Amino acid sequence: MNPHVMFWIPAALRLALTWIVAGVLWYYYGPVIGLLAGFVLMTAMVFVQLYFLSRLDIWLDNPNSAESPGGWGAWAAIYDRLMQLQRDEEKSQAELTEWLVRFRQAMALLPIGVVIADDVMFLEWCNPAAEKHLGLSETEDRGMRITNLVRNPEFINYLVLGRYDKPLPMTLNDRRLVLQVIPFENRRQIFVTYDTTEQENIAKMRRDFVANASHELRTPLTVINGFLEVAEAQPDMDKDTRTAHLQLMREQGERMQRLVDSMLQLTALESPDNPVVREAVNMYELIQGVCDEANMVSNGRHDISLDMADGPETMYGSEDEIRTALWNLVRNAVRYTPPGGKVALKWENTEKGPHFVVTDTGIGIAAEHIPRLTQRFYLVDKTRSRKERGSGLGLAIVRHALMRHKGELQVKSQVGVGSEFTAQFPNSALVP
Ligand code: ADP
Repeated sequence: MNPHVMFWIPAALRLALTWIVAGVLWYYYGPVIGLLAGFVLMTAMVFVQLYFLSRLDIWLDNPNSAESPGGWGAWAAIYDRLMQLQRDEEKSQAELTEWLVRFRQAMALLPIGVVIADDVMFLEWCNPAAEKHLGLSETEDRGMRITNLVRNPEFINYLVLGRYDKPLPMTLNDRRLVLQVIPFENRRQIFVTYDTTEQENIAKMRRDFVANASHELRTPLTVINGFLEVAEAQPDMDKDTRTAHLQLMREQGERMQRLVDSMLQLTALESPDNPVVREAVNMYELIQGVCDEANMVSNGRHDISLDMADGPETMYGSEDEIRTALWNLVRNAVRYTPPGGKVALKWENTEKGPHFVVTDTGIGIAAEHIPRLTQRFYLVDKTRSRKERGSGLGLAIVRHALMRHKGELQVKSQVGVGSEFTAQFPNSALVP
């Protein structure tokens, strides 16, 4: 049956019962008693309705789906339906809140900044990336004009002109950003910001790398071309001069070869497609080899000592990469230590893991250069002749080789006193 009929039938029955009782009393005790009884019963029914109405009124002040106002008959049916409505409302509220929480969590994870501004550029909402990019605070800056919060002339100009077809590249708080403004409903705007600092740094590093590599290659090439021109112009050059020229050309050729080898080595170390080999390396043999090579290069000009008794015999990693890293450190110690100086090599175990320390009594490095030593092509003293210095790639190779082994390079140095370079490997390099 129709629930609405069910709803009024009990009320109609109660009303009918009232009049039947009043009629019976009228019949037996006369009209006064009958009418009085009808009046009393009707009044009682009205009061009952008023009572339930007041309960409903109280419940409506604080609708609660768990607690019914309590009632019977038609009121019970009304309360049930109201409670059902309230439950539906609470459910959709909970769903909406959950969706909002998820939306905020997703927005917080986005690496791009998102800002919503109203029609007059007042901040309505922004995500954490936008807070970081534009220096905003979602809680403190809400309701404030964005142009007052981001005080950057490029930014303000862009918003004033309102030509949003092209994104705006700008610099803010030392970061490179790209800003895009997307108008949406009710003349509101969405600002999207991308941090392009890393990409631009990488692009700059690439440009610098090409410029530096070309510069380093050009000098030996100029020398070789110069000698070739002389040889062409003087076909009857005497044998000694020719031999000397050929010797110089070979040195320049070897120099170019070393440079290209270093660049290829560095590229291979940086390549994400080049997995780190993990083989058991006999460190005693490897370090002894490096020490022998250092003695050969030094040719008796330095006092080279080796102590590896406290270090592990075996370590896991790439033999080639470890040898390259250690050799570059030792070669530098010999190269930058004047004849008569000392170079000490030490291989030992520490709490952090095994490390290889090269100490020299060489020319040393001023403190301001130390943080930049591992940058590619970084040279402390550019005035040194090319013969005396390398290409500036050696320590970049060391750093990358160590990084691939989860190790790090530590440098201590004092001008005129000497330097200490430590290749620190992690304890995990010892576990087979
Ligand atoms: P290079 O191939 O020119 O030696 P590196 O990257 O190996 O390049 O070193 C960078 C710079 O760091 C060198 O040009 C040199 O000035 C300085 N350097 C490196 N090792 C030492 C050292 N043991 N003593 C003094 N200076 C050093």
